[in-house]
Amino acid sequence: MAESEPVPATPTPLPEPYVAGRSCDGCTMCCKVMSIEALAKPRQKWCEHCAVGTGCKIYAARPEECRTFVCSWLVDAGVGAHWAPRRSRMVLTYQSEQHQITIHVDGDRPDAWRKPPYRDEIEAWAGKMAANGGQVLVRMARDAVVILPGLEKNLGEVRDGQVLLATKRAGPAGVAWDVVALEPDDPMLKRLGR
Ligand code: SF4
Ligand code: SF4
Repeated sequence: MAESEPVPATPTPLPEPYVAGRSCDGCTMCCKVMSIEALAKPRQKWCEHCAVGTGCKIYAARPEECRTFVCSWLVDAGVGAHWAPRRSRMVLTYQSEQHQITIHVDGDRPDAWRKPPYRDEIEAWAGKMAANGGQVLVRMARDAVVILPGLEKNLGEVRDGQVLLATKRAGPAGVAWDVVALEPDDPMLKRLGR
């Protein structure tokens, strides 16, 4: 602001990046289900600095990964209120480059994503992601399940950095999808320009 401009009587509020009415208050689910590289914290283990359901005990000194993380429920109005992580026990993230929605499911509630209304919504999202070459990935304690139109495939353990490659084949019975997890330096990805 230039010095000659009048100072407003009350500060102008910063634009609110979160969906109105949503906040992290009372949640902390991401401090369990996500891995934090800087802390060598694996998935599905409560962070040692977490006051569960309250917040971070080292908030001012938390790693960059934690500072920059927001789940999709917080920032995407298209994600319904019932996806609130503290209630659904699932944390949604979206990877735009891969057109991938990842659902990090609390290992203590591994079937949460199969229950209504979640499962139907996940299938609808899978159709939209597939149209752009992506998919929905459901991550549980160990296994990762890919959902594509007409396909639910358990890939077992998918490590960070691995790339999911979905393929489809048209046949007399319609389109059949498949998916594999590849290392980032897999020659197949290079051939495909990915
Ligand atoms: S899961 Fe989402 S709402 Fe919950 S604490 Fe993490 S960022 Fe906030
Ligand atoms: S450092 Fe804080 S914000 Fe980061 S995972 Fe641990 S408790 Fe959560």
